[in-house]
Amino acid sequence: MSKRDYYEVLGLGKGASEEEIKKAYRKLAMKYHPDRNPDDKEAEENFKEVNEAYEVLSDKNKRTQYDQFGHAGMGANGAGGFGGGFGGGGGFEDIFGDIFDMFGGGFGGGSRARRPQKGADIRVQVDLTFEEAVFGTEKEIKIKRDETCDTCDGLGAASEADVKTCTNCGGSGQVRVNQRTPFGVMQTVKTCDVCHGEGKTIEKPCETCGGKGTVRRERKININIPAGVDSDSVLPLRGEGQPGVLGGPTGDVYVYFSIQTHEFFQREGNDVYCEIPITFVQASLGDEINIPSLDENKKKVGQIKFTIPEGTQSHQTFRLKGRGIANPMGYGRGDQYVKIKVEVPRKLNEDQKELLRKFAETSGTHEIHEQGKSFWNRVKSYFQ
Ligand SMILES: [Zn+2]
Ligand SMILES: [Zn+2]
Repeated sequence: MSKRDYYEVLGLGKGASEEEIKKAYRKLAMKYHPDRNPDDKEAEENFKEVNEAYEVLSDKNKRTQYDQFGHAGMGANGAGGFGGGFGGGGGFEDIFGDIFDMFGGGFGGGSRARRPQKGADIRVQVDLTFEEAVFGTEKEIKIKRDETCDTCDGLGAASEADVKTCTNCGGSGQVRVNQRTPFGVMQTVKTCDVCHGEGKTIEKPCETCGGKGTVRRERKININIPAGVDSDSVLPLRGEGQPGVLGGPTGDVYVYFSIQTHEFFQREGNDVYCEIPITFVQASLGDEINIPSLDENKKKVGQIKFTIPEGTQSHQTFRLKGRGIANPMGYGRGDQYVKIKVEVPRKLNEDQKELLRKFAETSGTHEIHEQGKSFWNRVKSYFQ
């Protein structure tokens, strides 16, 4: 059985944000939840599939790995681990807490307590020239992120004494409410509206950050971009994203690339293609010419000698092994493909025309080359 693409499972595109993934997952997990679909095998399978996709795509490391290598990159410790069911490990708690909330607490869950969460990730796009992408470069990127307020040291209050225990919830961050549900009146636990689950309120907020405990700053980071990156490469910068919540780890920065096209090189994966126009005389007699090629040592586009063999045909392609783009993962190099385009002169003077007429005579009317010969022979026999 072939596995469906995880993005497809969640109905998302490859560039989906963390928030979109979470949203899509919630929707589908609700739809296929076993409690809503008792004894429905198909729903159960869908539920598993959705969970598996979410487990991978919600985890930065796993997602990066999956984006680059697909299912093959997930290995044994990849997506297989879901079996143990929800309500258990890591990220699931959050989501299911919410789902239980949506179900009105009917599944024994109720509300969730506030707990440490990883900070949000930040996506940055970097524009690169063809050469920068091919040979690697250093770039300074600017990211806007929230950083701990220096004035209050993240407290959010003007002083320690301004932090008070929330009177609405008594400091627990949760309140019990009676709710009318299809199953009858139920007591559920909700996050306190006053302190938003913090259990504390601030009497006099810090003037610098207005009580948030963080201030938005623009940071410059120098990054090394490895040789060979492409427009679907992603460069992760661990721990450079938004700060975590309640002591959770800092988020990451993900650098994406937008790469300009080149005047005469086209790129396909790690291979480069270029079209070289030559005259029909060069094509017939052969020649040695300089053609553009990637110079890995000098990190620029240089020139190399290229021998046009006698009798080269238009649109013939030559492969120059190992003259392509370095693999950003650090192994091997692609090839360069030289596409020959034979140009027929549009204007000839009388002398030149005379020479060509003589040439035609010596070679015997129109039958001047092999391919043509066999073509005209086929035409002849077709009409016979
Ligand atoms: Zn409260
Ligand atoms: Zn502050």
